[in-house]
Amino acid sequence: MAPEIAAGAGRAGKQMNEREIRERIRELMTAGQLPPARADSSLVSESGRAVPAQVHVGTDDIERCAICGQPGPQLSYYYPGTRILRFHAYCDLLWQEERAR
Ligand SMILES: [Zn+2]
Repeated sequence: MAPEIAAGAGRAGKQMNEREIRERIRELMTAGQLPPARADSSLVSESGRAVPAQVHVGTDDIERCAICGQPGPQLSYYYPGTRILRFHAYCDLLWQEERAR
């Protein structure tokens, strides 16, 4: 009925708890869905160069969080020439913690 649900997270449709979000982040990092990034959220390009993000703050009801798949991400990271990643503030915080491990 609703094909957009399949495009979200594997377990779309329900809120994920912290442990589930952390598992999801590790899956996405392993799969390359979440790019290598530095502590300041700069992307690390294939040549090893840091690509700084332009961060836009503001809830976007149309888009979905790149981590948990739920709508309404509050942060959008624009990486010039590469990609846009959108996250909930909480999901982004957990991603920062996971990549700092
Ligand atoms: Zn999220």
